[in-house]
Amino acid sequence: MCAAMNRSFISVILGGFGGGGGGPAAAVEGTVTEFSVDDTVDMLDEANSIVIVPGYGMAVAQAQHSLAEVVKILTAKNKQVRFAIHPVAGRLPGHMNVLLAEANVPYDIVLEMDELNDDLPQTDAVLVIGANDIVNPAALEDPNSPIAGMPVLEVWSAANCVVMKRGLATGYAGVDNPLFYKDNTQMLFGDAKKNVDAILRALQGN
Ligand code: NDP
Repeated sequence: MCAAMNRSFISVILGGFGGGGGGPAAAVEGTVTEFSVDDTVDMLDEANSIVIVPGYGMAVAQAQHSLAEVVKILTAKNKQVRFAIHPVAGRLPGHMNVLLAEANVPYDIVLEMDELNDDLPQTDAVLVIGANDIVNPAALEDPNSPIAGMPVLEVWSAANCVVMKRGLATGYAGVDNPLFYKDNTQMLFGDAKKNVDAILRALQGN
């Protein structure tokens, strides 16, 4: 876990993140593009390959059961749907794997970060659900970021990325996320369970 967070055991136990490489972290600016539930459903309908990245917010919202139903429908439409699990997603080792197993998501579509990162440039659509730090490009692009050096899921390299969270708040590390301002990122704001339920209803044609 310490390797996955690029931090010492003691700093992980004490919590919080350090100040990065010494200088100030880069200011995050740009324009946020907002997506509706219908926009998100259209993106999923048009995609052949879809990667879902769950994070702590999925656990808070308890969205995994509805999400599993969404995955069943998309898979039945012959789309390739896979989950990408970051080693420190959530707040406990294996947190996401436990929740997805509880929702009966098949194990063979739940892959580790290292197994999927190289496939993201060939992926049509990424759905980020309640994740933040584990998809923050600043970890790779800003040497002064408090999370500099932490391996992350490079979701911005996919053709399209929708991030589902309630607002633009930071995650555990307290670091702003330039992903939210990228041209191929759209934000679907709101509680993850409420929005996944709405996506499910739309896919069911209700
Ligand atoms: P983060 O904590 O980075 O982000 C979670 C995001 O979820 C928040 O930014 C929040 O945004 C959103 N969220 C919260 N509630 C909801 C909701 N109901 N619906 C939708 N979104 C919601 O989580 P990640 O999983 O990306 O990263 C895990 C972090 O925890 C890493 O920094 C990791 O190092 C750390 N950590 C992990 C441990 C582990 O073993 N897994 C142990 C110790 C630390 P908003 O408020 O805008 O909705």
